[in-house]
Amino acid sequence: MKVKHFIPVNEPLLNGNEKKYLCQCIDTGWISSEGPFVREFEQKMSETVDRKYGIAVSNGTAALEIAVQALGIGEGDEVIMPTFTIISCAMAVTKAGGVPVLIDSDLCTWNMKVDEIEARITDRTKAIMIVHLYGLPVEADKVIALAHKYHLKVIEDAAEMHGQTYRGIPCGSFGDISTFSFYPNKHVTTGEGGMVVTDDEELAERCRMLRNLCFRKDVRYVHDELSGNYRFTNLQAAVGLAQLERLNEFVERKRAMGRYYTEHLQGEEGLILPVEETEYARNIYWVYGLVLDQTIAVDNRVVLKLLAEEGIGARTFFWCMHEQPVYGSMSFGGSYHNGEYLARKGFYIPSGLALTQAQMEEVVAKVKKVMHTIRNGSR
Ligand SMILES: *Cc1c(COP(=O)(O)O)cnc(C)c1O
Repeated sequence: MKVKHFIPVNEPLLNGNEKKYLCQCIDTGWISSEGPFVREFEQKMSETVDRKYGIAVSNGTAALEIAVQALGIGEGDEVIMPTFTIISCAMAVTKAGGVPVLIDSDLCTWNMKVDEIEARITDRTKAIMIVHLYGLPVEADKVIALAHKYHLKVIEDAAEMHGQTYRGIPCGSFGDISTFSFYPNKHVTTGEGGMVVTDDEELAERCRMLRNLCFRKDVRYVHDELSGNYRFTNLQAAVGLAQLERLNEFVERKRAMGRYYTEHLQGEEGLILPVEETEYARNIYWVYGLVLDQTIAVDNRVVLKLLAEEGIGARTFFWCMHEQPVYGSMSFGGSYHNGEYLARKGFYIPSGLALTQAQMEEVVAKVKKVMHTIRNGSR
């Protein structure tokens, strides 16, 4: 395979104050989790999403684990969540001894079908996990209404939702605890990183303890509980602060990218494009996803291979929880045809913040070429 240049599926944009703030860490010697940028980043990030408390942690997966543990979810407790999501969501629950109860996806928004939640509530249900996927938010008010009606907790995974709103209210403000990730393909990155946000002082305090080995507050090195080391460094916070300064610009960049791709891929036979707008939100395109329609016989892996041959990085969508080998022994019940379809037919194309106009043009041309090849059945 000879490819002169390759367009990666994601490249972050780090040309703001990142370097300046990082140099301050080096110059002052503050590089650990005790450094001053950590507190500042927690404050700014939680303010951005209208929350009282922010607890920065090592990654988005850790944030979910801490959220689940802080809410006291344990042995046999059921947590309702989408089947079509990243393993982090289910893993946080199963690690705590809880049981994920899965909901199928909406083929239009790719989020869980909130109308199917109520039928899955039992007397063991403890929480509903909202996971906003790919750029459009879950209908949070319906979930919150159910949570009130049945006295359930809400965990909100807003890892892909920095800067997104649902009916004008920031994503990340809907859960008893909400979580973010700052992995490089998120709208705000710190390399690796995550955050738990909440309005509840007691929960915030618990999360801080869970982040740091569960040291007892009164005596260090004495522990009543086990967690892990999920601390976040001053170096990460330095990058995060610089990123956060540009959040609005980043969201606009992503929307412009989405508009460009949609405009130029519209009408391409065999492709379903992401929804640009619903009645409650405008897509922020965490990544730009595409789904093969019923006329296409091959699955997403074939597209990925052909795109790679053309020098274009791409990734498949998530793989459903009910089909995970690791959960093979669990019986989830229900049917999840839409999630299964998205997992087999969905993929995303280069959509990082550093993507240039010329690269987008090339991606569009190559996607069209590959779709043409596939439609003509030469694969
Ligand atoms: C990225 C992501 C996570 C995990 O975040 P990490 O920082 O990679 O651990 C969790 N949930 C969703 C929906 C994500 O997109």
